Amino acid sequence: MSDFWKRCQERLASENRAVYDSWLAELTLEEGSDPDSGQITLTGAAASKMREVQKNHGEMIAAAVSAVAGHPVEILFRARKNPAQTPAAAPEPAQDPAEDLARTGLLPKLTFDNFVEGKANQFAYAAALQVATSPRAIYNPLFIYGGVGLGKTHLMHAIGHEFRKLHPHARVRCVSAQQYMQEFMEAVRQKAEHPELMRQFEAKYQDLDLFLIDDIQSFGKREGTQTNFFLVFENMVPHGKQIVLTSDTYPKSLKDFQERLLSRMTQGLTVEVEPPELEMRVQILHQKAKSIGLDLPEEVAEVIAEHLKSNVRELEGAVQQIYAFTHFSKMPVTLESVKLALRDVFRQNSVPVTLESIQQRVAEYYNLKQADMTSKSRIAPVAKARQIAMYLCKELTQKSLPEIGKSFGGRDHATVIHAHKKITAERTRDEALRHDLNVLTQRIKN
Ligand code: ADP
Ligand code: MG
Repeated sequence: MSDFWKRCQERLASENRAVYDSWLAELTLEEGSDPDSGQITLTGAAASKMREVQKNHGEMIAAAVSAVAGHPVEILFRARKNPAQTPAAAPEPAQDPAEDLARTGLLPKLTFDNFVEGKANQFAYAAALQVATSPRAIYNPLFIYGGVGLGKTHLMHAIGHEFRKLHPHARVRCVSAQQYMQEFMEAVRQKAEHPELMRQFEAKYQDLDLFLIDDIQSFGKREGTQTNFFLVFENMVPHGKQIVLTSDTYPKSLKDFQERLLSRMTQGLTVEVEPPELEMRVQILHQKAKSIGLDLPEEVAEVIAEHLKSNVRELEGAVQQIYAFTHFSKMPVTLESVKLALRDVFRQNSVPVTLESIQQRVAEYYNLKQADMTSKSRIAPVAKARQIAMYLCKELTQKSLPEIGKSFGGRDHATVIHAHKKITAERTRDEALRHDLNVLTQRIKN
């Protein structure tokens, strides 16, 4: 049972280290408290402090405990009867594995165990596993890219956990590029007054065995951060220390990156995660349902998967919504109750895709004007974007070829057929184009 509370503590610490240290570290699970009963009691030294904890952090604690338990758990807070007898609550920080884990920045639930593999992510998955378990850094860096909510962050954290299993003493850091950049810029800004900030920053990211950095696209334009990060590369990769990067953009399309950094970032292995296909979506729904103790009939999972196509986060949200809805309404999980629970989500996803909205998204994506879609211009990038838009119109709407042609400044159906054929052929061999099409499809549907 104390193991249960320990896992809750790990989770809380990784969610908010500062709050954990000052408020939650001393809490203990009251003897006899059983999460399976749907309720537990946490105790702390002083009643006044417990009231504060309940008021300010009660929800966060309940969410973490419920997540670890796999079902909703209500929390009671109480002062200890005799503080003198209680153990010194949270174990010594330095030796506590929870502390170590929190320091790495890895989120406990993002592991390979609960990552569903399918056609859409098979290469990324294989590469991630390889990188995590290989004794030498063979793909360095590993660059994972793909659209939103497709599992890039999950895979990256999974690599970190697996690596730590095999190398318990390794120095691992996982951070969002955004956070890394903020820490760096803050240290630079305060260099004169607080030189210790730069020392802390350096100490934190020095001598790493594995460095995981998420959403690297946010380094665009940030010259100082890029220069700093370039040096990180030079200090790690030649020494066989592994770097893993994720990005929502195909590496060669990253904007405002130093050439030398781009070439370093792509010198290892680049893999894409694509939107999950139907079968995989069903599998993910089952896995997510199982993880929170929801019994999801097959036919229900199939209907949801038919409706929600664009990403995994959406599927996860749907499962949670069904759980809450059926739990509170006390309805069984059936096709009917699920349609009710997800009516808003389903409605949103059935917003019709129009020819204009496709043209607009494509123009935006390639930094063109919407007028370029209907113009006579034959400049290569414009013509190419137009063909991509025609292709997507054919794929994503029920409009006829003449209608599509007409909406592109009065072109005929043969032009649309030609564009569709051309893009269809190219997408199989051009990885960057495939990525663009995936991202565009996601954006058009939302
Ligand atoms: P990204 O970083 O690509 O935007 P995330 O890794 O944050 O996406 O994934 C979004 C959510 O979906 C997370 O909760 C993650 O755990 C879950 N998820 C994504 N892909 C998978 C998968 N293949 N199997 C299980 N869960 C997944
Ligand atoms: Mg992410």
